Amino acid sequence: MTAPQPIRSIVIVGGGTAGWMAAAALSRLTRTGVRVTLVESDAIATVGVGEATIPPIRSFNGLLGIDENEFLRRTQGTIKLGIDFQGWDHEGDRYFHPFGEFGFDIEGVKFHQFWRKLHETGAASGIGDYNLCAMAMKLGRYQPPSTDPGSVSSRMAYAYQFDASLYAAFLREFAEARGVVRQEGKVVHVPVRGEDGHIEAVVLEGDRRIEGELFIDCTGFRALLIDQTLGAGWESWAHWLQCDRAVAVPCAAPDETITPYTRCTARTAGWQWRIPLQHRIGNGYVYCSGDISDDAAREMLLANLDGKPLRDPFMLKFEAGRRKLAWHRNCVALGLSSGFLEPLESTSIHLIQTGVSKLMALLPDTGFSPVERDEYNRLTDTQMEQVRDFIILHYHANRRTDGDLWRRVREMEIPETLRRKLDLFRNRGRFFRYEDELFAESSWIAVMLGQGVYPAGWDPLADAIDTAQIQKTLDRIRTIFAQTASTMPRHEDWLARHAPAGRFA
Ligand SMILES: Cc1cc2nc3c(=O)[nH]c(=O)nc-3n(C[C@H](O)[C@H](O)[C@H](O)COP(=O)(O)OP(=O)(O)OC[C@H]3O[C@@H](n4cnc5c(N)ncnc54)[C@H](O)[C@@H]3O)c2cc1C
Repeated sequence: MTAPQPIRSIVIVGGGTAGWMAAAALSRLTRTGVRVTLVESDAIATVGVGEATIPPIRSFNGLLGIDENEFLRRTQGTIKLGIDFQGWDHEGDRYFHPFGEFGFDIEGVKFHQFWRKLHETGAASGIGDYNLCAMAMKLGRYQPPSTDPGSVSSRMAYAYQFDASLYAAFLREFAEARGVVRQEGKVVHVPVRGEDGHIEAVVLEGDRRIEGELFIDCTGFRALLIDQTLGAGWESWAHWLQCDRAVAVPCAAPDETITPYTRCTARTAGWQWRIPLQHRIGNGYVYCSGDISDDAAREMLLANLDGKPLRDPFMLKFEAGRRKLAWHRNCVALGLSSGFLEPLESTSIHLIQTGVSKLMALLPDTGFSPVERDEYNRLTDTQMEQVRDFIILHYHANRRTDGDLWRRVREMEIPETLRRKLDLFRNRGRFFRYEDELFAESSWIAVMLGQGVYPAGWDPLADAIDTAQIQKTLDRIRTIFAQTASTMPRHEDWLARHAPAGRFA
């Protein structure tokens, strides 16, 4: 038996967002002589959706050295400051989940504790008035955050909305220029070594064989390597996240306004997304097939578009859940092959990003020690569960009166991890973030309050500061945030100036 050697050959199967994100990140290894090959089949379409992101995407692009304005131009991209949730607590209501933080903590006590205390007497307005991103969302404005932490506009935080196929094409160009080799063809056979069950190679139509040491499964819902070949198994979360289908269609954007946010509107049997890009708007209706027929869902979507549909609506079927082992033997699953959580908080692309980062940090050698694999799987499991809980919160804490779906999810048993968070927040607005949890306290606060989870009291430490002083501070924050947001350029003007594409090109 030979001593373990550094990995010399990596094969990525699949050329959707996951495949090309992995290829772009791993292209760095080609400088050390590692062969990185990506296999994709033009005959098998990518999932064709996945256009809204969350702020950490900026560090992914930044690490690759991608110029932001060029990236926005090439992907018809827009800025996303958060999500506009409509009708989620009850019919007709609306709240923002903005990316930036709320107000400023005072003497180590969280801002929302002071807000809660004043809100009791009507001396504080809605929490969104104390968040710069939310104020900019309301006005449709955007300006990049200042790098000076003393400046008010340093409180801006943002992500992107982009055309998923253009992003994959952009990353493909990036990766190929840095030595990744693309092989076109359909994988028809995946031979496995007898002695340890590792994948030896992938065999393409026409009997082309591509050997490798480490395989990355980016084949989407098919999970061709990790599950069809290695049988890594599936854990379903469909009892908590009951939507199992989506119908999607892009439509024309009827006017110049481009909202700097994604909109998620609750509907009787699910919810509808609206993602504005420079050249069009992406739309989809995520629904529970037990509560509405496919035809009715399609009609519902078409009846709620801002402009003319640009193609026939297409349907996707899925189940919420995760791969029991995201890394199994010499194969790591990224993207849809590793699990699925519905796109309510735009987290899937982020989970690809963290998957690639973890893999880079735990890159194995040919010995494939279980130490690295187990750590990867532990971290992946925790991250998936944390995101899952956050998404369940949106459903569970609702007071909608239409549709059986909303009653079921309100009455269902929720994971113990989420139950603890809800109880703590309901009591005195307390929140603790565990193990590098993706969503920060401000996100949980926005969604808890937005969904009508209102703390019964506040932290007693908020009483240690004079109420009149708190009042003055809150009023000042609201005024300064409103003024700062109103002097920002309109989002579409900023795009036209810095990253013109679509109608601005
Ligand atoms: C309805 C919906 C909405 C979504 N919205 C968002 C969102 O707003 N934000 C977000 O972050 N995420 C979103 N996602 C998730 C996001 O779309 C995916 O995480 C992302 O596109 C990655 O997909 P993928 O690359 O894993 O799979 P795919 O895009 O399905 O790509 C699979 C690739 O594998 C290749 N392939 C498959 N079989 C073979 C074979 N035998 N041989 C060769 N090649 C093969 C295909 O050709 C293709 O290139 C959404 C998902 C759904 C279903």
